[in-house]
Amino acid sequence: MSVPLDPDLSVRIADNIQAVHQRMSKAAHNVERNIEGVSLVAVSKVHPSDTIRAALETGHRVFGENRVQEAGEKWSNLKADYPDVCLHLIGPLQTNKVRDAVALFDVIETVDRPKLASALADEMAKQSRPLPCFVQINTGEEPQKAGVLPADSDAFISTCRDTHGLNIAGLMCIPPQDEEPALHFAFLREIATRNGIAGLSMGMSADFETAIELGATQVRLGTAVFGERPKTQ
Ligand SMILES: *Cc1c(COP(=O)(O)O)cnc(C)c1O
Repeated sequence: MSVPLDPDLSVRIADNIQAVHQRMSKAAHNVERNIEGVSLVAVSKVHPSDTIRAALETGHRVFGENRVQEAGEKWSNLKADYPDVCLHLIGPLQTNKVRDAVALFDVIETVDRPKLASALADEMAKQSRPLPCFVQINTGEEPQKAGVLPADSDAFISTCRDTHGLNIAGLMCIPPQDEEPALHFAFLREIATRNGIAGLSMGMSADFETAIELGATQVRLGTAVFGERPKTQ
C-alpha cells in the first residue's frame, strides 16, 4: 500500500467518526429506534485519497461521492485495497456516465427521470450488476434541484419497478437550505410508506439527528466526518 498516513489526520478522522456514531445512537435512542437500522454514508467528495484512507483505516466502509469522474479517479485504487467498500452515488447522473457509474458504484441514490431509469436498467443487465437504487425526490419543488416532483413520485416509482425492473431500495431527498428539514423528512417518509419502500436516505451534517428521529435508514455526512471540504479552485 501507499506511504503511512499523517497520524494527526488519522486521529482526527477516527475521533470524528466516533463522535458521529455517538450522536447517531443518541438520536435513535430518543425515538426508541435500533441504531443498527441506520447506516452512515461518509461523503468524501472533494476530499483527497489520504483523508479517505484515514476513514477506511478505522474500519468504515460506506462512502458517498457526487461525481462519477472524480469518484473513479480516487476510488479505483481505494477499492482495490478495500474490496468490501460500498460506494454510493449521491449526485446527479448524466446518461452518458451510466456505464462508468454502474461499474464503480454499489448503490445509485439519484434516480430521477425515466430516461435515466431505462439507461440504468440496460447497463445493469449488461454488466450483471443489479444495484440497489434510490429515487431522489425534489420535496421542496426547487427548479434548480434534481429529483422527481412529489406529484410524479408514485408513477415514477412504478415505472422504475414495473417497466424497468429496478430494485428501488429507498428514497432520497435534499431539503431546501432555508426550510425546516423535518417537514421534508416526514414528507419523504410518507411517500416511501405508501409505496412500500423501506430505505430513507436523508439527513446531512446539519440535520442528521432530526432525520434519524424521523426514520432515516442512512444519513449522508461529509463535514461531520471529514471536516470542512477543501475549496475547489
Ligand atoms: C455534500 C453532500 C452531503 C454531505 O453534506 P455535509 O453537509 O457536508 O454533511 C450529503 N448529501 C449530498 C447529496 C451531498 O451532495
